[in-house]
Amino acid sequence: MRLMIWVDAEGISGVVNWSQVLSGRSDYQEGRLLMTKEVNSFVRGARRAGSTALTVVDCHGAGGDHSFRNLIPELLEEGAEYVLGARWTSYRRPLEEGCDGAVFIGFHARAGIPDGVLSHTVSGDRWLNFYINGQPCGEIAICAALCGHYQVPVLMVTGDVAACEEAKQALGESVRTLAVKKGLSRSSAVCLPPHQVWQKMEEMAYQIVSDPPKVAPFRPSEPTTLTVELTQPEFVRDFLHGPVRRVNERTVEVTGENFLDAWKVLWGA
Ligand SMILES: [Zn+2]
Repeated sequence: MRLMIWVDAEGISGVVNWSQVLSGRSDYQEGRLLMTKEVNSFVRGARRAGSTALTVVDCHGAGGDHSFRNLIPELLEEGAEYVLGARWTSYRRPLEEGCDGAVFIGFHARAGIPDGVLSHTVSGDRWLNFYINGQPCGEIAICAALCGHYQVPVLMVTGDVAACEEAKQALGESVRTLAVKKGLSRSSAVCLPPHQVWQKMEEMAYQIVSDPPKVAPFRPSEPTTLTVELTQPEFVRDFLHGPVRRVNERTVEVTGENFLDAWKVLWGA
């Protein structure tokens, strides 16, 4: 079984504050250690169940020198390959070549969710809201739509309770979820001890590979319209290229034949 594992930082067990997930901040080394150990536990479980083709992609933009390279190389578990330093959503080779499923570890709720720990969509400073075909969506739906473009289902999502609920709402009840903490606010949560989470993660990985849940790929209706509501008018100009249109002072919109097409145009790719 071939799996693509996307790992973000904000939904990792024990992470509740930006200081743990931004390069150069006081607790950043702790955050990346927790992120590495959590993904390792998934790899151990999947490997034990016989999965031989695991690609882990570091998806967290920590800023500074660490964007998309937060996982600590010397600690990484054997049995997987690890993609470090690739710009967010740009590495899609396993999807293009064909894989059996995707897993999202350490994901977070979309912008505006009050009890979503470190909730945001793409950029906490710049993006106020994001919509796919008029529906408010976060990074879980964005990444799932990229997988869905290649008919790859998302089998499992982990993060806080709000992220797990968002995953079920967007992808359907059959997606497996593991809630590693329950947010009290955007920077506080009731947490399970990471060691306990790692045991559960390993067990769930084993189950996912042994008996994959039947989840339909997430494919938004086509043509697909993406709308970004920015926090300030000056951020609009970054998107005014090609067929991207300005809807109002701080909102841009693009329609593509499908999600991937629209997503690429939005980023000028
Ligand atoms: Zn992140």
